[in-house]
Amino acid sequence: MSISIKNLTKIYGEQKALDNVSIEIDKGQIVGLLGPNGAGKSTMMKIITCFIPPTEGNVKVCNFDIFDNPKQVKECIGYLPEQNPIYYDMYVREFLGFIAGIHKIDRKKRRNRIEEIIELTGISKEANKKIGSLSKGYKQRVGLAQALIHDPQVLILDEPTTGLDPNQLIEIRELIKQVGKTKTVLLSTHIMQEIEAVCSRVLIIDNGRLVADDETKHLAAGQNLETIFRKITNNP
Ligand code: ADP
Ligand code: MG
Repeated sequence: MSISIKNLTKIYGEQKALDNVSIEIDKGQIVGLLGPNGAGKSTMMKIITCFIPPTEGNVKVCNFDIFDNPKQVKECIGYLPEQNPIYYDMYVREFLGFIAGIHKIDRKKRRNRIEEIIELTGISKEANKKIGSLSKGYKQRVGLAQALIHDPQVLILDEPTTGLDPNQLIEIRELIKQVGKTKTVLLSTHIMQEIEAVCSRVLIIDNGRLVADDETKHLAAGQNLETIFRKITNNP
């Protein structure tokens, strides 16, 4: 099991952001976490990646426990948070070198790995530029590159396509599908079409509760999940 979430609850002050959520995700799936703003998507991802602790419950990533082995959990995860963690004043190659250093990638292998990841994420032409000068789509590719540099088994992507124009959107989705062939991917979105385009499985959360867990093909065929989602978001 790549990600095992058991009875996860998170309370911020008085607010329950996650309410007794349990999810099992097998190796090699691209899973979409769908829900309206404030549903608890980012909270769940921050707990999985050991940025914040849960109030109750537990998570295991690649069989490592977030409480007992947070370092190993972080090692096997590539994380692209909602706010892309890039430095605008750094050059693309320089930034990826910095991140490779943080992950303690062997110095001899570092240069090759950076070139590999630049090629994979399609940023060769931009690799000598300052990150601040790149378009939003290319900044997002750099964000994906930093998440992938240590070749993690699990990718956690928090709304990776938000704010992209239609062309950039298609390109980033293709890239996620490509890297998803060899990794477990959990990505969050509030866009139904994104799930249909990229994910094989969909989890719907609303108000911190898991309200649906199904294969995406059922979503397209039966529309039952769409009905649920419409109800949640009050769309007619
Ligand atoms: P989503 O990513 O689905 O939009 P979040 O996980 O960011 O949802 O937020 C879930 C709920 O928890 C929201 O109502 C949000 O306002 C609240 N929340 C998130 N972070 C905090 C925090 N640090 N302190 C208090 N409330 C928070
Ligand atoms: Mg969020």
